[in-house]
Amino acid sequence: MKAVVIGSGIGGMASAIRLASLGFETDVFEQNPFYGGKINSKKIGSYRFDRGPSVFTEPHLVDELLDISKGTKIHFDCHKLDVSCCYFFEDGKRLALPVGKEAVAACLSKELGEDQDHIKKLLNRLELNYKAVSPVFIKVSLHRLKQWLNINVFKAIARIPFYGLFSSMNTVNRKNFENPKTTQIFNRFATYNGSSPFKSPGMFNIISHLELNIGPYMPKGGMVSISDAVYQKAIDMGVRFHFNTRVAQILYSSDRVNGVALSNKEIPCDLVTSNMDVHYTYEKLLPGLKGPSKILNQEKSTSAIVFYWGIKKSFEKLDVHNIFFSKAYESEFDHLFNKKTLIDDPTVYVHISSKLERSDAPEGCENWFVMVNAPIDSGQDWESQKQKLRSNVLKKLNRILKEDLETLIEVEENIDPIMMERMYSGKNGSIYGNASNTMMSSFYRHPNFSPIIKGLYFSGVTVHPGGGIPLALNSAAIVEKCVRRDFSIS
Ligand SMILES: Cc1cc2nc3c(=O)[nH]c(=O)nc-3n(C[C@H](O)[C@H](O)[C@H](O)COP(=O)(O)OP(=O)(O)OC[C@H]3O[C@@H](n4cnc5c(N)ncnc54)[C@H](O)[C@@H]3O)c2cc1C
Repeated sequence: MKAVVIGSGIGGMASAIRLASLGFETDVFEQNPFYGGKINSKKIGSYRFDRGPSVFTEPHLVDELLDISKGTKIHFDCHKLDVSCCYFFEDGKRLALPVGKEAVAACLSKELGEDQDHIKKLLNRLELNYKAVSPVFIKVSLHRLKQWLNINVFKAIARIPFYGLFSSMNTVNRKNFENPKTTQIFNRFATYNGSSPFKSPGMFNIISHLELNIGPYMPKGGMVSISDAVYQKAIDMGVRFHFNTRVAQILYSSDRVNGVALSNKEIPCDLVTSNMDVHYTYEKLLPGLKGPSKILNQEKSTSAIVFYWGIKKSFEKLDVHNIFFSKAYESEFDHLFNKKTLIDDPTVYVHISSKLERSDAPEGCENWFVMVNAPIDSGQDWESQKQKLRSNVLKKLNRILKEDLETLIEVEENIDPIMMERMYSGKNGSIYGNASNTMMSSFYRHPNFSPIIKGLYFSGVTVHPGGGIPLALNSAAIVEKCVRRDFSIS
């Protein structure tokens, strides 16, 4: 049996490994000259940058993938971070948030006047919510009746009063915390799947459990080590990769997939997994097929503008992950989702991998990944938006850090929503497919299988269970479960 995977993002490579482990002869077609999709890396002068993701939780999901079947032991190791993120506010407040319930509660009590016991209880509640929701919403397909008839579902239902399903994250957090700064910190987790905390249901507060209670990790060698390890595993499993090869169409006859078309030939196969953004999979690869319009027409997640700056100085005040908050947070999301433009005082995220990986920047220097959430492309003039943003970001960082950063930037590149769309084929440059801006958003993610065409599956962050590396890895595990059932593989 032959399988084709469209795209070598983390969800695509993880699907390929799993399909190969089931005995499928597996080919991955990737339009770019490199593997890993958004998890790729670039050297600019003497600086190395991870170009996409920087926050990494649940490394055990990568270990689990590397442990599938016997074979060469593939090395993958992580630093565990003591500080999840360093927060800077416009009034000069700096807060380095440690990891773990006790430490987080003590820090928020000392620095922001929160009640320590209340915070501990809250973090416990987030953990319980996460543990109740995970086996029901994250680890399995939501779209099979059988999944709804087991004890885990009843356990998850029993916790409904604690999720904050019917209020926004912001409403829940405002009630939970004394200090608006704490609310802003907890609200930020909505951006981890490209959504607005003023619209996302309180349920999504569970995202913070992974970062605050357990803590983020940083792969040794940078984020790109995730792609390197998973690619090596796929090669070890006999998966064949074809780079610079765009899939033009998915072929099917009546209701069964039978291959893919490249620009110059057709590749017959028994199974196709698309790791391409699900919206474009329908629009571009299945042009004759009517897609599930309710799902495909949901509001899209944010895009981003990233500046990659080689900075010829080292900053003690900064950590691996740093956030410089906007004073007008609600207005920032109004700009992102309604006005479709950038606010003059945006929240700025600065990631510096060279804090841990010294070889990522020359001695005494740092590699700054400076990211601002941006609206998806709807025809904005990105060149002028970027110039204005660059100047606003520099003003903000100079103001807070009391520096003249312009003079310290040694090398520089950037990426914007249009470039993002071209490079990764995400709908209008969106990073996570649909936003989670409604109560029903989890149910409006495309399933990991096609309800119309047999043998067609979907993995990656634009489908169930959602955005971020761990969820993309989970999507591939669900594809495996679906394939096992559909192809009667025990
Ligand atoms: C700037 C930025 C910051 C981010 N930060 C984080 C973070 O901190 N933590 C986190 O967990 N996540 C983060 N993300 C999201 C993260 O990138 C995703 O979680 C994950 O890497 C996406 O994986 P994926 O499998 O969905 O596919 P992608 O990485 O999107 O890969 C899809 C692949 O399919 C290929 N492809 C598409 N169409 C075709 C075709 N027709 N033929 C052949 N190939 C095709 C593309 O070239 C691409 O390689 C970030 C993303 C960006 C852009």
